Amino acid sequence: MDSPGQGTVGQCIYCGSRRELADEHIVPFGLGGRWTLKKASCPSCSRTTAGFEREVQRGMFGELRAALKTPTRRRAERPTKSILGLERAGSIEFVEVPIEQAVQLLVLPVYPPPGFFRQGQTDEDLSATGVEITPLRVGPAKELALARGAEALHRAFTFKPRAFGLLLAKIAHCAAVDVCGLEGFSELYLPGPILRQAQGLGYWLGTGKVNLPPREDDYDVRVMADERGLVVALIDLFARIGGTTYVAVVGRLGTPEP
Ligand SMILES: [Zn+2]
Repeated sequence: MDSPGQGTVGQCIYCGSRRELADEHIVPFGLGGRWTLKKASCPSCSRTTAGFEREVQRGMFGELRAALKTPTRRRAERPTKSILGLERAGSIEFVEVPIEQAVQLLVLPVYPPPGFFRQGQTDEDLSATGVEITPLRVGPAKELALARGAEALHRAFTFKPRAFGLLLAKIAHCAAVDVCGLEGFSELYLPGPILRQAQGLGYWLGTGKVNLPPREDDYDVRVMADERGLVVALIDLFARIGGTTYVAVVGRLGTPEP
């Protein structure tokens, strides 16, 4: 499910405000997102979501995005250089290299599965238990290392598991609202953690049990409902590479209890 959402929501999908609404990118533009919800976010909630989106896009994936030439609205701020550690006889020399020669790794957090599925605490925070590292481009750096007589390569990376989790929650929430409509839900679980900046997020979000298969697209976001109306979203933000798939419990469909 990844049809471009054309629906106009007409209220903030996080806090319900109906004033000064802006369009909301479901997946950030910089991660390949062209899918938007019209009039769906108020200025205050936009500031909150823009904060963690920026942290993820520039902090975690800044160099990777530059190397993969993903879209940007701020080309001048793109990194053009990277640091490589060359190990020789037990010591490491750090050298600056053009971004085309850098080692590129996809580094994604591993979280526990959502607490919802393992009788966890409803207020549990989201914390990473590890990292999943996928080497994407190592060849040019290896050649450089060989030419300089290095025995091993080192690469620093930035890791922002909390901001990344908030971004996943936002994508899950937006995608489910696009597919089911805001009025289709009797309960929505993610706006609270998103606006309060993650408290309780570990109960609703985590690493999925299985990964979605790779496919020729920037990302893969699927919204699913079960027979009792429980809505979950599966998210792989690096579908071409076959990155980790995360799962978020979004809410419940139906008429609210009186
Ligand atoms: Zn709002």
